[in-house]
Amino acid sequence: MKEKEKIHTISELGEFGLINRLTKDIKIKNKSTLKGVGDDAAVLDYKNKKIVVTTDLLVEGIHFDLTYTPLKHLGYKAAVVNFSDVYAMNAQPKQITVAIALSSKFSLEAVDELYSGIHLACENYNVDLIGGDTSSSLTGLAISITAIGECDDDNIVYRNTAKVNDIICVSGDLGSAYMGLQLLEREKQVFKIDPNFQPDFVKYDYILERQLKPEARRDIIKLLKNNSIKPTSMIDISDGLSSDILHICKNSKVGCCLYEEKIPLNRQTIDMAHELNINPIVCALNGGEDYELLFTASLNDYEAIKTLLNISIIGHITDESEGKNLVTTDNKNIPLTAQGWDTMEK
Ligand code: ADP
Ligand code: MG
Repeated sequence: MKEKEKIHTISELGEFGLINRLTKDIKIKNKSTLKGVGDDAAVLDYKNKKIVVTTDLLVEGIHFDLTYTPLKHLGYKAAVVNFSDVYAMNAQPKQITVAIALSSKFSLEAVDELYSGIHLACENYNVDLIGGDTSSSLTGLAISITAIGECDDDNIVYRNTAKVNDIICVSGDLGSAYMGLQLLEREKQVFKIDPNFQPDFVKYDYILERQLKPEARRDIIKLLKNNSIKPTSMIDISDGLSSDILHICKNSKVGCCLYEEKIPLNRQTIDMAHELNINPIVCALNGGEDYELLFTASLNDYEAIKTLLNISIIGHITDESEGKNLVTTDNKNIPLTAQGWDTMEK
């Protein structure tokens, strides 16, 4: 019989022991990292590049639920969502700092798991972990990651530079992460009633992965660069297509016209939405956590973009006076709101 593995408390190691354990195997990958973990501050040298900086804070019970989120996935996701923000500036992530607050319910092994996810994300995206902070907490886990990225002088892409007649494009498909979350929440409720219940997740593997282990679209940034396409504006979709296109419109002082039939949906998202009696388009508009790139491009790039895999052209930018609208499959114009659209007619 296999002996039960011993679980260790964090207090056995103390703060410095813990930091050392979490950071001892780090090998610096980027030339811009002069000094990583181990001094009062990290030291970076970016020569004459532009630097972008972004932070995300994830709090247990607010942003994640550990009953169905493996800690390794949480660490991976916490890093990747920051990389997504960096790519959305058309920049490359290079370094992160990680701040964590841990309550006593977390064992050393649990923190190892969390960090194995963070290290894996750094490996996959060629990013250095250069520092952080560690604290105890009374109420659970909080994790805040700051990412630093670089970009050539003229290549940064902002949200406020979309122009009338630009085309609106999106990578991948939308609404899947939200459907994955709904599935996990549903199974959690079932599990509460019958702890012996074994959910059958096989046919929904894609939407679960989209929720639990999202990827940032580095590939899309590369694809656009290789095809000499520079977006006129860009944002990553974290709050849903509707909310995020409204950010571009508001910041750029323009309107937009999106076409329902053009919005990319995955088969599993459609099936799950039907199972839950939701219109799949509502998931795409309001779901969030897709971490796809939403961008505008000059009409001159239309032919080139049309041929690219994993990018859909879903509409165009209009004059501000025309409003922000979704054209439905039955040809109705519906104003977009931050929550999707106003009325949900079937
Ligand atoms: P200080 O007292 O100067 O804030 P710390 O003792 O908090 O220093 O941290 C020591 C070193 O370990 C620093 O380089 C810091 O960036 C790094 N560090 C602290 N906590 C973490 C963490 N959770 N993950 C990665 N690096 C960390
Ligand atoms: Mg500190």
